[in-house]
Amino acid sequence: MLRVLLSGKLHPDGLAVLRARDDLTLVEMASEEPAEFVAKLPDADALLIRTAMLPREALVNARRLKVVSRHGVGYDNVPVDALTEYGIPLAVVGGIHSGTVAEHAMFLMLALAKAGLRHDRAVRAGDWNAARARLEAFELSGRTLLLIGFGRIGRALALRAQAFGMTVLAYDPNVPEAAMAEAGVGKVADWRAVLPDIDVVSLHVPRLRETENMIAAAELAQMKPAALVINTSRGGLIDEAALAAALLEGRIGGAGIDTFDEEPPRPDNPLFASDRAILSPHIAGLTGEAMARLSVTAAENVLAGLDGRLDPALVVNAAVLGK
Ligand code: NAD
Repeated sequence: MLRVLLSGKLHPDGLAVLRARDDLTLVEMASEEPAEFVAKLPDADALLIRTAMLPREALVNARRLKVVSRHGVGYDNVPVDALTEYGIPLAVVGGIHSGTVAEHAMFLMLALAKAGLRHDRAVRAGDWNAARARLEAFELSGRTLLLIGFGRIGRALALRAQAFGMTVLAYDPNVPEAAMAEAGVGKVADWRAVLPDIDVVSLHVPRLRETENMIAAAELAQMKPAALVINTSRGGLIDEAALAAALLEGRIGGAGIDTFDEEPPRPDNPLFASDRAILSPHIAGLTGEAMARLSVTAAENVLAGLDGRLDPALVVNAAVLGK
C-alpha cells in the first residue's frame, strides 16, 4: 500500500478522489509540529500539505517520498531547493482559484470606492443625511488600475476591472508587451514613474527579496491622495506602518488588505486605526467552491505524482521530472 500523508484538513471532494483508489492508505497528521513531519515522512509516498511549515530536515529520511502536493499556488512553507536536491517534485494547483482571488480584490476595490464600511456604520448610527451629503463614493469606471505582477491572478483581475470600465496597466518584467496588449492591458516599464497617474494599485507578485516593502513611504508619497492600494498577494510587500500613516494623514485614499506581514496581525497593527482600510483574514482564495476545487486538484496531483504522470505546468521544480 502507498501511504499518503495529509497535513491539514482536506475538503470531502478531495478526500473522495484519494479514497477512490484502493492502493492508498491515508495518514492524517495529528499536529503541524516539525517533529511530526520528521516522524511520519520516512514512511510516506506522498505528502499533501496545506499551510504548515515543512522542515528541510524532515526530508533527509523521506526516502519513499515521490511527490509533495501543495494545497494552493504559493509555496513559501516548503523548502523547494531541498525537494529539488532530493529529486522530489513539488506540485501546485495552478490557476483554479485565480478568479476567486481576483474577485476578492475587486470586492476590496469596490468596498473602498463606495465607502462601504463607513456607509454601513452611518446607517446603523442614524447618520443618514450627513452620510449622503458627504459624497464619499466614487466610480471605478474611467479610473486607472496598475497591476504589479501580471500572472494568473493579475490577468483575472484585469478582465474584471475592464468590465467595470477601468483602464488597466501592468508591470511584470516576465510578461511581454504583446501578451499584455492581447489582454487589452498597457505594459509599464517603470512602475514607480507612473504612480502619480494611478487610481488603484493592486499587488500580485510573490514575496521575494526584491518585492519586500515595494510599497513604502516613498511610493505612497508619489500616489494621488485619493488612490487605493490593494494587496491580496502576500504580506511583507507593503510597509504597513507607512501605509497606516498615509491613510491617517489623508495622503492616500484607502487600502484593501488581505495579507499581512505577520499573520494573524497583532492587535496593535497600525492599519487597525484607519477606517479607510478594509481588512480580511487572508481569505481572498477561500470560498467554498474554491476549497472544493483546490482539494480535488491537490489530490489529483498526489495521484499523478505517485503514478509518474504529473503535468509539468503544475510542477514548481519541473527539472526533477523523469529523473
Ligand atoms: P503567478 O506566478 O501566476 O504570477 C506572479 C507574477 O508575478 C508572474 O507573472 C511574475 O512574472 C511576476 N513577478 C515576479 N516578480 C516580480 C517583480 N519583482 N515585479 C513584477 N512582477 C513580478 O502567481 P498568481 O497565481 O497570479 O499569484 C500571485 C500571488 O497571489 C502569489 O504571491 C500568491 O501566493 C498569492 N495568492 C494569494 C491568495 C490569497 O488568498 N490572498 C491566494 C492565492 C494566491
